Amino acid sequence: MDIHEILKKYWGYDSFRPLQEDIINSVIDGKDTLGLMPTGGGKSITFQVPGLYFDVGTTIVVTPLVSLMKDQVDNLRRRRIRAVYFHAGMSPSENRAAWEKLVNGKARFLYIAPERLRNDRFMLEIRQLDIRLIVVDEAHCISQWGYDFRPSYLEIKSLRKIKPRVPVLALTATATPEVAEDICHQLKFKDHSVFRKSFVRDNISYIVRKTESKIHEVLHILSRTSGSSIVYVRSRKRCKEISDFLQSANISSTFYHAGLDFKLKEERQNVWQGGAVRVMVATNAFGMGIDKPDVRVVIHYDIPPSLEEYYQEAGRAGRDSLPSYAVLLASKNDRATMHRRITEAFPERKVVKKTYERICNFLHVSVGEGYESVKQFDILKFCNSFSIPEKTCRSSLRLLSQARYLQFIEDPDSRSRVMILCSREELYDIHDLSESTEKVLSIILRLYTGLFSDYIYIWEPEIATRSLMSENSVYEALLDLSRKKIVSYIPRSSLPMIYFPTAREEISSILIGKDIYENRKRVMEFRTESILEYVYGEKGCRVKKMLAYFGEKDSRDCGKCDICRKKKCDHNQPAETMDVIVANIVSFIQTHPEGTTLPALERHCGRNQESVAAAVAFLCNEGFMECRDGLYKFSESFRP
Ligand code: ADP
Repeated sequence: MDIHEILKKYWGYDSFRPLQEDIINSVIDGKDTLGLMPTGGGKSITFQVPGLYFDVGTTIVVTPLVSLMKDQVDNLRRRRIRAVYFHAGMSPSENRAAWEKLVNGKARFLYIAPERLRNDRFMLEIRQLDIRLIVVDEAHCISQWGYDFRPSYLEIKSLRKIKPRVPVLALTATATPEVAEDICHQLKFKDHSVFRKSFVRDNISYIVRKTESKIHEVLHILSRTSGSSIVYVRSRKRCKEISDFLQSANISSTFYHAGLDFKLKEERQNVWQGGAVRVMVATNAFGMGIDKPDVRVVIHYDIPPSLEEYYQEAGRAGRDSLPSYAVLLASKNDRATMHRRITEAFPERKVVKKTYERICNFLHVSVGEGYESVKQFDILKFCNSFSIPEKTCRSSLRLLSQARYLQFIEDPDSRSRVMILCSREELYDIHDLSESTEKVLSIILRLYTGLFSDYIYIWEPEIATRSLMSENSVYEALLDLSRKKIVSYIPRSSLPMIYFPTAREEISSILIGKDIYENRKRVMEFRTESILEYVYGEKGCRVKKMLAYFGEKDSRDCGKCDICRKKKCDHNQPAETMDVIVANIVSFIQTHPEGTTLPALERHCGRNQESVAAAVAFLCNEGFMECRDGLYKFSESFRP
């Protein structure tokens, strides 16, 4: 099959998106390749298609987020493509089951978290496998200059060493020219096959709003616009506060952060995704893997740490190419807050070392012990017991993890898993179960499929509802089945974990190098200054500044950001008014696909004829809308 047939057969798509085909051909030619594509650009297909094109062998995909890894594997399995994954949070029996699948089932894709590559036995087994392609997803994580450096990514070098002839495909959505260069250098690229999709998003108006009353500004923006929106905040507590505030102002909203349990996250994501709730107030935990095309407004309540992060999050607006806007709110104090974050991110070395010692004691790991172990870590309990501020603890954990003494895993598998250990026939011969255990077993068999060959996620509250039992009784029944070796049950845990790649060291031999401390601090300072200049700089197009940061030096003024608008707008029509009218028209037409008239638009926007006519003219000139038989509609190419 050629690559077009593969695309059609497994995904049902007729053609590739720009750059996908170039990347795929480069990989098939055996070249080391770097693909820089914005989020949502379709990176997965650039390695999944070549993976299938090679008739035999396995593609290894290194990826940092356990949740994304699972989504991708589920996605492939739905398309009947064999795939397995490994991460540090898996139990030994899960690991064994996955290996068996890999070796016997000849999985085409093997997803791994990078820290797995440190495990000698794992590497030995990898040596035996027929590997055709190595994919490094979120490749900026390998660079010290990247905003999300993860030292475990450096382990990928050892994979290169044992498979020197296998081509590497590195993919990322954000990389400055320095980071792109560093990725190729770290991964020892033999060819410099680099494909970069422009980062221009010309349907988004980027706006910075200076305000001392952010909450009222959020309300003001949302009440004058319509359509799906996201409000990003940095604190979990504030997520709820803002969402409650919006609800009290009759704006439907919900909130999302990493501390919520899996089911709640899923529910909230679904109601927002489906349009039943308009606004999602969230921390940056919300967004990865979300593919909602019609987000009209993304508001940042706090300044993000870097332009990379801002670009990614703001870029969740307007995936459907329709006019949308991204507003960043800034107060006078924010500049000082940003500088304080740098100090907080780098506690003194002696504090970091002391934190390491205390964590080990807290987790009962003695000096010389703990090699390759994984422990649950209740960070709040730890901070309370030792009176350590949470921020100091998190910064220490980050530095210790960069120095490779431990790894803090914040998004462990928060769902329970079950696999049946005997055959279907053997199940019929079991007669000594209590009534409740038998009930739970039969409900599991009815609710879930694939239990005999793999670990399957279960959700105890659902089993409890179906069986009319309490959650606790369901849990007891599952433990009973587990004790009788009928099932292997891994209860869910929402606690973060710490993985120790090495045995506990004496405090005197802990080394936090210059690379990790002074150099990284300088990078953070640079990043902070770059975003502060974006926010507080009053001269120059905002988009131009952002693109220059990503290495696109010769871009033109966008004409849509608040600075460009200020330059060209007449004095009677403030820049943001035009944005508001445009956004209102777009969402009105979305709900009236049959078309609408100018007076109806005027009524909806509550504005005078002149302003609405100007906004309509803008949308028609830009090719988003057209007038047919007196009715304004989306033009063919932009119909969502
Ligand atoms: P990324 O990893 O770059 O954020 P994904 O690989 O998740 O993006 O792709 C985003 C969406 O685009 C997915 O729903 C995917 O199925 C879709 N997609 C990718 N390539 C194509 C294509 N050639 N034609 C149509 N849809 C595509």
